[in-house]
Parts: sequence; C-alpha cells; structure tokens
Amino acid sequence: MTQDSRKEEFTFQTEVKQLLDLMIHSLYSNREIFLRELISNSSDAADRLRFEAATDDTLYEGDSDLHLEIRCDKEARTITVRDNGIGMNRDEVIDNIGTIARSGTRAFCENLSGDRASDSQMIGQFGVGFYSAFLVADRVTLTTRRAGMGAEHGVCWESTGDGNYTLETVEDATRGTEVVLHLREDADEFNEAFRLRSIIHKYADHIPFPIKMEASKPPVEEDAATEDVVDAEVVAELETINQTSALWTRPKSELSDEDYQTFYKHVGHDFDDAHSWLHQKLEGKYEYTLLLYIPKNAPFDLWQAESKSRVKLYVKRVYIMDATDDLLPRWLRFASGVIDSSDLPLNVSREILQQNPAMAAIKGGATKRMLAHLESLAKEEDSSQYRAFWDQFGGCLKEGVVEDYTNRKRIASLLRFASTNSDEQTVSLEDYIGRMKEGQDTIYFITADSLDAAKHSPHLEIFRKKDIEVLLLHDRIDEWLATHLTEHNEKKLQSIAKGELDLSKIAGDEESEEEQKQKVEKASALVEKIKQSLGDKVKEVRVTSRLTESPACLISDQFDISGNLERLLKQAGQSAPDVKPILEINPDHPLIIRMNLQLDHADIETWSQILMDQAVLAEGALPEDPAGFVRRVNEMLAK
Ligand code: ADP
Repeated sequence: MTQDSRKEEFTFQTEVKQLLDLMIHSLYSNREIFLRELISNSSDAADRLRFEAATDDTLYEGDSDLHLEIRCDKEARTITVRDNGIGMNRDEVIDNIGTIARSGTRAFCENLSGDRASDSQMIGQFGVGFYSAFLVADRVTLTTRRAGMGAEHGVCWESTGDGNYTLETVEDATRGTEVVLHLREDADEFNEAFRLRSIIHKYADHIPFPIKMEASKPPVEEDAATEDVVDAEVVAELETINQTSALWTRPKSELSDEDYQTFYKHVGHDFDDAHSWLHQKLEGKYEYTLLLYIPKNAPFDLWQAESKSRVKLYVKRVYIMDATDDLLPRWLRFASGVIDSSDLPLNVSREILQQNPAMAAIKGGATKRMLAHLESLAKEEDSSQYRAFWDQFGGCLKEGVVEDYTNRKRIASLLRFASTNSDEQTVSLEDYIGRMKEGQDTIYFITADSLDAAKHSPHLEIFRKKDIEVLLLHDRIDEWLATHLTEHNEKKLQSIAKGELDLSKIAGDEESEEEQKQKVEKASALVEKIKQSLGDKVKEVRVTSRLTESPACLISDQFDISGNLERLLKQAGQSAPDVKPILEINPDHPLIIRMNLQLDHADIETWSQILMDQAVLAEGALPEDPAGFVRRVNEMLAK
C-alpha cells in the first residue's frame, strides 16, 4: 500500500488558526522560545512515560534511557527535536495538535478585539506551546508513536500553519516524538548549532532529562578535508549539554532569581516572569519539597469551572500527575510549580495515591506555606506586590474563605476591600476593626454591583453622618462571600441593607430612644397608608433611622437574600426566591412630612409608588414598570 493513500487532510479548528496568527505577530521579537516550548513538551512526555512504566515496564520496550535529542541540519535548513517519551496515537495527535482542547478557548478568542497590539498582551496568558514552532518554521513535521504500540502505528502530522494539516500512518516509527522544523527564510539565525546550544542553556538547564546534541567539533579551516568528513556520513558523537538536575532539589543558595524564573516558564507554561515564589524543603512526619509560584497575570481560564492547577506532583523526582483537589485546595489553583514527596509509593495507580494519608498532610502543609508567603507579602512596607497579587487573584482568596473552613480566619485576614475611606481595595478587616468607633461591635458592609452604586447608596447616609466606616463590596463573588463570612475576630459582619439597624450604642448618636419612638408614632398612619398603596409589593413599611437625605430606601429582611443578589441571580438566568423588600421611610424628609400632613390626598397612592420606585432606582436597579414610573413623575411635575 502506498503511504499516500493513507494521507488525510484536516482543517484546524478556527480558534487554532486565530491563535496562530496572533502568536506569530506577538512573539516575533522573542522567537527563540520555540525551543523552550518543544523541549518542555518532550520533557513532559518523558515524565509521563516514566510514570506509566512504573506500573508496566514493558512500555519501555527495552529502552529506559529517557532523553531528548536536538539536531541542526544546516544544509537542509531543519531543526529536529526528538524524544523517546510517551508519544501519541492517532487520536491523541488529532486532539492535542489539531485542536486546542482547553475549555474557555472559544470565549478567549471571542474576547480578542482584533487589534493586534492590544491582543498581543493576552497571548501570554493563553500559552501556545507546540504552535510556537511556527514562529521559526514554515513547515512542521511531527512523527510520533505511542509507547507500547507496534511500530506500524506511527503517525506523521504535517502543516504549513496555514489552516490545514495532514495525517499519515507511518509503518516503522520509533517510540516517542520527533518534530522537524523547516526553517523560514527569515529564521537563519537559528540554523546554527551554537545558537541552539545557547538557547538550551538559557532555558533548559534544569530539565531533568539529558538533552543531547552532536559534539561540537573543534573549529577547522574551511578546506576539502572537512567536506570529506561530512560526505563520509560519520555518525557524530552525542553529548549531553544540560545540567539535568531537577531545579527544586537544589539548595536555594545555589539558585539565582533567573534560574527560578526560567524554570517557572517551563512549569507554569507562561511567557511572562512569575510574580513571586516559595521554595521549601519540609522534614517531619512526611518529607517533601515545595516550589510554588504565583503568576503575574491570571491565566485566561482561571474562572472556568474546569480550570486546572499547574502544580505537578512528583515522587522522588518522578512526575506522577498534575495536582488535584486532594493535593492542593481549589482556591490555590492560581499557583503553579512542583511538589515532590519522598513518602508516596511510586508504583500504584493515581486513584490509590489520592487516598494516601501523606497527600492530606502535604495539602495542609502546602496551604499553610502559601498562606505564610502571602502574609509576608501583605506585611511589606511597600504593599504594591501584594496589591498586584490581590488584583489578579483576590477572587480566589474569597473562594478560600467560603470553601476552606480550617484556614478561614487566616484567609479572611488577607482579604482587601474598598470602603467609605478608600476607593481602592486596600482595607483589611483588621484595618477596619482598628478604626471602629467607641461602642461599635459590628463590621458594616454594603453589597452592590459596582463601586459607584455602593458608594452612592442611600443606606450609607447615617453612616456618613456618624463617620462610621462601611466596607463597599462590589465583586460578584462578594454576595456569596458575605453569606459565609459572618464574623471576624469576634466582630460580627452585618450588611447595612439588611434587617434592623441599631447604632444607638455607638458614640455620637445624639438621638435618644424616646425621640425615635415619637417619630415612629407620628408616622404610623402614613406607614399604614403607604402599605395599603403598595400592597404585596413590599413585605413591610417602617420608619427608618438610616437616612438623612433620601426620603426612602429598601431593606432586605435579615434572613432573606439581598436585593443585589436577587438581581445577580436573575441576570444569570437563575431563579431567585421571590422575596419582598421592606420599605423604610425617613420621617425627617420634607416629602414624607408633607405626605404625613395630607394623608387623605387623592394622590397619596401615586406618591407612595414613586417613593418605592425611587428607592429601587437608588440601588442602581430598574423599577418594575419604568414607563409607569416616568408617567407618574411627569403627572406630579405637571401639577
Ligand atoms: P501544552 O503543552 O500547554 O498542553 P501544547 O500545544 O504544547 O500545549 O501541547 C499540546 C499537547 O500535545 C500536550 O499537552 C501533549 O499532550 C501533546 N504533546 C505535545 N508535544 C508532545 C510530545 N513531544 N510528546 C507527547 N505528547 C506531546
């Protein structure tokens, strides 16, 4: 059978094409990273074979000397990167190389503006791995065979990066993967073995497998003798050119920041430097090494339900798997790096491993170390490092407060909020408590869907007047946070838009209980009137002490969901429990005073409705019947 009859043509997923174009544009000035990416893939492939072979050593096919080979053929203008790792079968090639199977890819592509300059900044968050080959090559040929499958199951994938690729069966493939890059015309600089060597030293010294290249020959004069050697096809000796020591096993004192950053790019699949890292060897009941990094920018899929951690679990330097929730809590999924344990058994399945008590111990330890790392950043005099972290990953910490009960208090101390003292999210709960008024025993907050809506909420009026700080919570996740974070350092957290408000114990409250009582009594008939007018639109109408400027505001009952949450749920297309708000009226407001004097006025019902709709508007929401509201207001204005 001819090979051609087995050659099939495929079209890339549209997203692949889009990403490829963007990547070539964005990374043009940093093209050498293609080698780092390919080496990284080969090293992962060797890692995976080593893991699978731990339970089935026939996969080695008699060759357990895992290594990478890189060749440069000056004449043919090709660079070849090959490994004898796990390899891929046909379906895996289609899934891994013709598609970008990561969830959220489509959404990521839809978010690209089409303006290359600004989109370029986003490509780093995505990471393009294998496709970076097209930075230097106008044709890429990948030949691979999965370990354990017969030689006739080889697959050859080829593409010029223009939207199509071909697949062909190869009858005599060796195990592992070989990638041949046919260099572009403008990529001559990479057609030199010494250049490739220097790139490998720069990026791949810490790769734990030998990377071999042809031994460099001593420089010889360009004469006939050299050509004879080439013609005679002398098989050049291979030499290992990297250090092959796993970086995390080396003592901190031997490692420079640059070493750490280089390794980060490999393990974190990131193009950018890391924000910071922690590297610790722990000894005790269990022994393990942590090298955990925080990225500078959130990966594009951080908020996808399926987004996975980029922390890898090793056992005595053998890669086992990517960390699951058994090894690292989900809220720490922004971290990348390595956890290497000396206590876990190597030759068992992942499922059995997950039940090993060492896993839980490592999880607890890694979480505590990461918390300590964040705490030390937060404590720094110049808090810009912590702020940069917070801007990207604050949402994860909020998840942590909800999900990680054991560490709730420590995580809560790392939260930062905007408040009536600061538009920036810089206020910690401790800061707030330190500024509480005499007699104040509650941390007050308001939730809204934007900082502006929170800042201008009428609920804040009395707090402004009394100079009591209020936290302004305006992230979507804050509603959820608030239902779980109900106290901190023995201080209750209380929404100022919920339940009854009693500020009487706080110094500076000049209104006596008696005065308040009188006001309630004086307005009782009006309260009844408004209630009748609004019918079942409200749960209750009552006199408030919250307002100083506005005539009315809406409150949720203590145990009902807040108006903000109700709106969020509805926007998300989810059903929200049908709860009715409480309308509170300000007895000192001229409008309310006037209504109280004209209880039998023909327009009292219209006034009541306007009052209600205004209170809805002041929350940043829309009245139930906006057109009706406008009509009623105009009617009153005309009078
Ligand atoms: P990433 O490495 O970020 O997953 P890549 O585009 O670099 O993205 O690779 C996609 C997938 O293709 C890899 O996850 C791996 O499954 C597979 N792959 C790439 N290179 C190799 C290789 N040399 N050997 C085996 N599988 C590979």
